[in-house]
Amino acid sequence: MKVDSLGIFVGTGECNARCSHCAGQIHRKYAPKEDGEVNEELIRKTLEDCYVLGARKFSITSSGEPTLSPKSVTRVLEISEELKKEKEISYSRINLYSNGIRIGEDPEFCKTFLKSWEQLGLKRVYVTVHNANERKNSEIYGVESYPPLKTVVQRIHDSDLLMRANLVLSKRTISSLELFASTVSALRTIGADYISAWPIRGDDDQIDLTLAPSPEELERINSWVKANQQQNCPVTLCPVTFLGEDTREAYQSGRKLTLFPDGTLSNTWCNNPQEGRPCP
Ligand code: SF4
Repeated sequence: MKVDSLGIFVGTGECNARCSHCAGQIHRKYAPKEDGEVNEELIRKTLEDCYVLGARKFSITSSGEPTLSPKSVTRVLEISEELKKEKEISYSRINLYSNGIRIGEDPEFCKTFLKSWEQLGLKRVYVTVHNANERKNSEIYGVESYPPLKTVVQRIHDSDLLMRANLVLSKRTISSLELFASTVSALRTIGADYISAWPIRGDDDQIDLTLAPSPEELERINSWVKANQQQNCPVTLCPVTFLGEDTREAYQSGRKLTLFPDGTLSNTWCNNPQEGRPCP
């Protein structure tokens, strides 16, 4: 079996947002109770085994917001550094998923942790963006206010990290090609380095047909992205990718694995025990 990439759930399930459809909620009961609690042996072995199977990138994700568990994130990055020094196991790309709220609201946190994470090998912060308008973004996140996205991007760049905006397409957020194109334009203006988009999925890991934009609209967005990729865009424009059903093949074939808080290593987000595999 070949593995392309690995996702690792890190930290407690604490989150500073209140999304009505929270993808992390079903995993929270297994999350550690304290920041800094990390299953070191399991993470170390999983990083080692996936590297042997071909993985060269991994992402830190969470059943909550990982920036609220900074000691746990630091420890996982340290384990990766230790593997580099001790066994020459070197992951060339390490990503961190975030809702961006703490990054935009807490400059002290950014000074204390973001740069040190960069020095421990972190390369990109993946910020989920529901709308380029902060007021609308805050509505989906269920918070009173969302920090300016420009500040979020700037603080990520200040720590020599790259920012990828993750757009989760839904009827409540980005529901049409026109909204998608204007969001891409706004994100490029404020300096996002990459943009990635996919339709909202349910707990069963399938596209949520009730909440996602219509299939016709998703196809228009997909075609627009492909046409943009074929154009010779100036290098200042960040690349845009659309993750449709065809890209699910990598998950289904097991090339993208996730280490869940219950210790299961699985190729499906819903972590169905029948489909999941125990950690090697
Ligand atoms: S930001 Fe993520 S973890 Fe937090 S409530 Fe929203 S979906 Fe759940």
